[in-house]
Amino acid sequence: MNIEEVGIIGSGQMGNGIAHVCALSGYKVVLIDIAEEALNKAMQTIEKNLNRQVQKNKISQEKMDEAISKITTNTDSKALKNVDLVIEAATENFDLKVKIFQGVLEHIKKDCLLSTNTSSISITKLASTTDRAEKFIGLHFMNPVPVMKLVEIIPGIATTDEMFETSKQFAESLGKVVAVSKDFPGFLSNRILIPMLNEAIYALHEGVGDIKSIDTTMKLGMAHPMGPFQLADLIGLDTCLAIMNVLYEGFSDTKYRPCPLLVKYVEAGWYGVKSGKGFYDYSSDTPIPTR
Ligand code: NAD
Repeated sequence: MNIEEVGIIGSGQMGNGIAHVCALSGYKVVLIDIAEEALNKAMQTIEKNLNRQVQKNKISQEKMDEAISKITTNTDSKALKNVDLVIEAATENFDLKVKIFQGVLEHIKKDCLLSTNTSSISITKLASTTDRAEKFIGLHFMNPVPVMKLVEIIPGIATTDEMFETSKQFAESLGKVVAVSKDFPGFLSNRILIPMLNEAIYALHEGVGDIKSIDTTMKLGMAHPMGPFQLADLIGLDTCLAIMNVLYEGFSDTKYRPCPLLVKYVEAGWYGVKSGKGFYDYSSDTPIPTR
């Protein structure tokens, strides 16, 4: 299973980061999104982030130019016809992801490998909606992808050992370190992380403390690099809510119920950094707590 060309579906904060690291590691990349506008924004972000690496002397200007030249963008999944591996990184929604894979299957090669960057949705269930469950795996990158070292790999029940080994080698070829999780709701990372963020939102909702106090407690008291509200805003509150719902439904356990305040923020369209406002307001240079 040789991987030279990678197709990435969804060019949001995860998709553009995955495209960035793949291109920098020498892979040809086809980046797909529904709208041209999203793709233009993604390419601007990739250039900005590569530039930052050049400024910090982490990569040369030539390496940056080479990486950019390896990425092509398209709104049509026909452009995936030559890719060896698809990494789906679109919005966290089961029906949407199923629809995306259905639309892709008719265009890709017979032996093309499939993966998803889902944060919580069952790999086995997604795999079963395709024609190649044995070549389907969870490749869970962390945000921001160019910075974070971990890739969580989640084989589904039908995933072959060969597919697992190929995926592991691929992730390592991007300079990442792999952790393996069984396919249960939230896998390892989000089963532990997202309920902690949800608990912080409950503490805020119940008036135990304000955003600043809770973030300061976890940063200075627990040596977390970011407070839970900063992190939830970075992940995206819509994504946090979607993951809590997957845990809640997947385990049928009320300990995973999403905090109503998180639901309220998502209803308002306050998704965090990506929408300009979440638990912090990002309209000025210094983010201001909203509560
Ligand atoms: P995002 O909202 O930044 O980006 C999602 C992108 O998907 C958007 O550009 C959107 O236009 C695109 N999209 C929607 N429907 C599409 C379709 N039919 N075809 C092609 N593109 C489509 O979201 P994100 O934070 O990048 O999350 C993407 C995936 O990565 C989700 O499954 C999420 O759970 C997972 N993930 C997120 C994080 C995180 O910290 N945000 C971390 C790890 C994994």
